[in-house]
Amino acid sequence: MHGSLQKTVRDRVVFSGVGLHSGITAEMSVSPAAPGTGVVFHRTDSAMAQPVKASWEAVSITDLSTSVGENESRVSTIEHLMAALSGLGIDNVHVTISGPEVPILDGSGKLFVESFDRAGIVEQDAAKKVWRIKKPFLFEDGVKVVKIEPAAFTEYRCTISFPDYVIGRQTIIYRHSPRAFTELATARTFCHYRDIDAMRRAGLALGGSLDNAVVVTDEGVMNPDGLQGSDEFVRHKLLDAIGDLSLLGAPLAGRVTLYKSGHGMHAKFMRALMAAREEYLELVPAVQAEAGPPGSSVEVFLT
Ligand SMILES: [Zn+2]
Repeated sequence: MHGSLQKTVRDRVVFSGVGLHSGITAEMSVSPAAPGTGVVFHRTDSAMAQPVKASWEAVSITDLSTSVGENESRVSTIEHLMAALSGLGIDNVHVTISGPEVPILDGSGKLFVESFDRAGIVEQDAAKKVWRIKKPFLFEDGVKVVKIEPAAFTEYRCTISFPDYVIGRQTIIYRHSPRAFTELATARTFCHYRDIDAMRRAGLALGGSLDNAVVVTDEGVMNPDGLQGSDEFVRHKLLDAIGDLSLLGAPLAGRVTLYKSGHGMHAKFMRALMAAREEYLELVPAVQAEAGPPGSSVEVFLT
């Protein structure tokens, strides 16, 4: 369910907070934009910065998060913001930001979703387009898999598999609607406690804390309030995927299957798919792709 018209936010929405990886605090505002604009980032902390349109072609770094643009124009850790915009069907916004990284907030998409809902989401006088999937496209990289195939609904099947006892193997089957997305979006980013030293030596996770990430140990999680549910891990991985794949510029209308994928895999998948797009994809008005009955559901399987 994508709706038939393009959307933007009614009013400007402001966020402020630390970046998960840089540790740099930024103020970010998300403002209405004209139909056809897409999501465009503008760094305000450098006179050298150029606007960067959020697109698979602009992806520059995928180490534990997704960045678009280069050097002083680059904006990092865009995936939860992108997921929230895409999940709520918001097509067009200008994002101005006073630093290199989107605030991590609570580590999920929850505060973005709540703020956009509060500001209001308005339809615009332009048809929304989606990617109709003409035939299955399979992309593999080692054991990692991303597959898309035709289906009457936009549906994601996402599986993660970690050797440890706390996460293990988890699968979620998610049929998209803005309401289903609002439930999904509360899942927080996570990491293993044993990896934190190495991440920080690599200049990553410098803004990370128990306020914005779930930290996993051999026995459980370190966060005093625990998990939202044992499936929070796979829900978050799907949130990341929805954010990353929104960089295709229009939603994929069909079934998306993800196995052990992450930001780097998503970027490679999008490049491979778009190189062959004539064969596999067709940009069509959203109404045309939504011939099936409306509905939404979230099912979770733990094995
Ligand atoms: Zn994430």
